[in-house]
Amino acid sequence: MHNLTQNRELADLLFPDIQKTPEYYELLYPKRQLEEGAKVTRFAPSPTGYVHMGSLYASLVSERLAHQSNGVFFLRVEDTDKKREVEGGVSNIIRALSRFGISFDEGVTDVDDEKGSYGPYKQSERMGIYKAFAKHMVEKGFAYPCFCSEEELNKIRSRQEENKITPGYYGEYAVHRNFTLEQVKEELSRGKPFVLRVKVPNNPEGRFVFKDLIKGDVEMPENFQDIVLLKSDGLPTYHFAHVVDDHLMRTTHVIRGDEWLSSAPLHVQLFEMLEWEKPYFAHISPIMKMEGSSKRKLSKRKDPEADVSFYHEQGFPSISVIEYLVNLINSNFEDWRRDNPGSPNTSFKIELERMSVSGAMFDIVKLTDMSKDIVARMTAEEVYDMSLEWAEEYDSELWALLSKDEQYAKGIFSIDRGGEKPRKDIAKWSDVKPYIFYFFDELFERDVAEGYNFPDTIPADEVKRLIREYAKVYNHSDNKDMWFDRVKEFCEAMGYSKNVKAFKKNPGAYKGHVGDVAGVIRVAVTNRRNTPDLYEIMQVMGEKKVIERFNKVINR
Ligand code: GLU
Repeated sequence: MHNLTQNRELADLLFPDIQKTPEYYELLYPKRQLEEGAKVTRFAPSPTGYVHMGSLYASLVSERLAHQSNGVFFLRVEDTDKKREVEGGVSNIIRALSRFGISFDEGVTDVDDEKGSYGPYKQSERMGIYKAFAKHMVEKGFAYPCFCSEEELNKIRSRQEENKITPGYYGEYAVHRNFTLEQVKEELSRGKPFVLRVKVPNNPEGRFVFKDLIKGDVEMPENFQDIVLLKSDGLPTYHFAHVVDDHLMRTTHVIRGDEWLSSAPLHVQLFEMLEWEKPYFAHISPIMKMEGSSKRKLSKRKDPEADVSFYHEQGFPSISVIEYLVNLINSNFEDWRRDNPGSPNTSFKIELERMSVSGAMFDIVKLTDMSKDIVARMTAEEVYDMSLEWAEEYDSELWALLSKDEQYAKGIFSIDRGGEKPRKDIAKWSDVKPYIFYFFDELFERDVAEGYNFPDTIPADEVKRLIREYAKVYNHSDNKDMWFDRVKEFCEAMGYSKNVKAFKKNPGAYKGHVGDVAGVIRVAVTNRRNTPDLYEIMQVMGEKKVIERFNKVINR
């Protein structure tokens, strides 16, 4: 029905205030001057404030692809659904990501701030742009107003359900698709609200084939539904905003969750109608986890570890979480890490083609183990600084203890660190306090108040006797070998075997062996049966504290 002039008239009628043309915007946002192969990617969250592990994962993929190709990574806030917006949501997202070292070259930087010349980067500030392109679509005969009320749409759906055919607005059911200009004018004059719909070929048999950079070749039904582009309040749908924004912001790679895969045929149609170069698409499968013997999606509702703030609260170093995620992105990272133990993980080149199609399997135990390795390779200074920073926010008692005597605290963190086989006791900063508590009297007292952990096989009197006699021979200035020789000598004097083998051969001849004696000394000093090197512990504690610990047992 519509010829060119009629389309123009319709466009002016629907968008009387829109003067800017697509050409204007093309000039305003020119093609980016980047080196060949540079990728432009984005993270495009709704400002709900909540950051799911899957979002961190997707943003990491986008960030790495951009930066390893000397491209651009930007943050676009998709805030057209005001119902989902949470106060402070934008700042929360930015803070959460920056804690993991994810930073943007362009885009929203704070509630009212942004950087870059392809903005505004907040969709709510791009209304004029969407309308200009909506108007253009109408002019070209690719979009039309639909005046159907909710009730009318429901009726259409019931009819379709009765006839057992695909529900939706298309073909003969798209009642306003072929309205004449006069009919539209009449509806408008009655003040009827309208949505703007795309006019796509009605081809239910059509197939859509495309290459997804993660999923490979995908074949789906072609879109034949006249989907809404602008809602009745004038706000764009995700579909329309995505196409307009990613074109004007010159995104080369759209990397997003695979809940959008089924709309890709529509998005590609829109790119084609607008005669725009299509970006590459990569649809990420959701992160999975095992529950019993079955797999399910990592869930915001069920899994605390799905929320990225969990890692901050628990004190997982960001680098551990990032390394774990890089390993989830491409499993060959693990081999790379083995071959390049000292390199920053940014030197590892990620590849979309190697990502899991069925969904990466998340495992907090593995993350924890990786983190133990990473913390074990840190210096005592790094461990001190990071745990202090964590404690400042989450554990004021620990913070006070660590900051009271920095040298002492660093001495503690130096034990069994730096050698060939460093101990792997700390995965996260909340592990620090239970790990080092016995170095601090107030924490030690609290622990001992619940009872000493001396081995059950040694009677209380014998424990006292051992410690009383050991305190007499203990010499704080012994070096490590002298110290151990002295412990062995002491064993013999007390009726214990100085070596375990001899004891096992003839257990009746001894009260026990050196392990038992050292165990008693260890518990007296730390109230733990398993600790790092006992000699080092006593050296760091200092003579006074060691003697006090002995006396406490003796005077029980
Ligand atoms: N705002 C969309 C979402 O939250 C972004 C999807 C995309 O990256 O295009 O899922």
